[in-house]
Amino acid sequence: MSISEILNKVGPSTSSETFTHEEIKLLLAAEGDDKKLLFDKALQTKLAHLDNYVHLRGLIEYSNICTKYCLYCGVRCKNLKVERYTLSDEEVIECAKLAHELGYGSVALQSGERSDKAFVDKITNLVKEIKKIDNGSLGVTLSLGEQTEETYRRWFEAGAHRYLLRIEASNEDLYYKIHPHDAKHDFKQRLSCIDSLLKIGYQTGTGVMVGLPFQTLDDLADDLLFFKQKDVAMVGMGPFIPHPDTPLWQYRDQIPSAEERMELTLKMIAILRLMMPEINMVAATANQTVDPQGREKAILAGANVIMPNLTPNEFRENYLIYPDKACVKDKPDECHSCLDVRLAAIGHKVLYNAWGDSVAFTRKNAPK
Ligand code: SAH
Repeated sequence: MSISEILNKVGPSTSSETFTHEEIKLLLAAEGDDKKLLFDKALQTKLAHLDNYVHLRGLIEYSNICTKYCLYCGVRCKNLKVERYTLSDEEVIECAKLAHELGYGSVALQSGERSDKAFVDKITNLVKEIKKIDNGSLGVTLSLGEQTEETYRRWFEAGAHRYLLRIEASNEDLYYKIHPHDAKHDFKQRLSCIDSLLKIGYQTGTGVMVGLPFQTLDDLADDLLFFKQKDVAMVGMGPFIPHPDTPLWQYRDQIPSAEERMELTLKMIAILRLMMPEINMVAATANQTVDPQGREKAILAGANVIMPNLTPNEFRENYLIYPDKACVKDKPDECHSCLDVRLAAIGHKVLYNAWGDSVAFTRKNAPK
């Protein structure tokens, strides 16, 4: 089957059709004119369903204190070189107010993973405080790792309505090659967290890193089918970036080049846009770290969300989940004007002062 025949399986307005595992693999391997066909169709599909709007989530990196030791992550608790911090309540609220003033419409609170009572209570309170700003005008996304269903429920009731928890790798064998194989890093537990989030009613986001050691095109094809099968509202995918103070660093010569990881990420985004035309997909900062134009390329491949960093500058360099993270030195308001110009240059625009909910989620939950 040719690439154009495969692409013709999905029409401009169909959302229920999908590709087979083998078709996805062929699309992931597309080169030259075939690759161009894929990217063109993905962009056309996005524009038809979601227009040329980009939604912003002001990213607040709340704390780098983490109880886990994932083999890829620079802030794993076993990395003793990291200076640990937690933002004060005032700092978080200042960030959220800044997001509101800049018209971002929503914030995303991300952190190293903790599940102790003090942390859970603190987050509950912070969510409530953020929701008080201008009578709940900010949307709140959380990205705080694995928690009990009860905790997820408490945070939902406090006002959070979106949650990001990447599966990281949907193949259990690969999962255990990039995580320790122990009770703290249990694959089934991660799956069950995603199911709890969906059940509670969060707009649930998941995703994977692309270009991991031991990852194959079969794995990546299955990752996309996993997102489709779970019917998630949001997906984030970015290139894996080896960090020198992590165990996976030893495989840095055995992974695809940075360029290839970027290219594969873009293909993953494009294929998923065809499979799930109405979901929110983020142009991850990792894209920009690997390629200065990476975020724009992701937007043109089908992404529609950007998460500008609002973390106070003095803490940013301690939240290096991967090295050389983009925008670590930028001031929040600089990011802002830079974004408008960059997006206008590729025919897109920010939708200010809106939550920018997932159209897929809204449609699914609309009264029948
Ligand atoms: N503790 C939270 C937030 C993790 S950071 C959680 O577990 O959900 C957000 C994402 O950064 C992770 O889900 C992971 O996919 C990505 N990430 C971590 N280390 C990375 C690396 N070395 N290269 C690229 N992405 C990485």
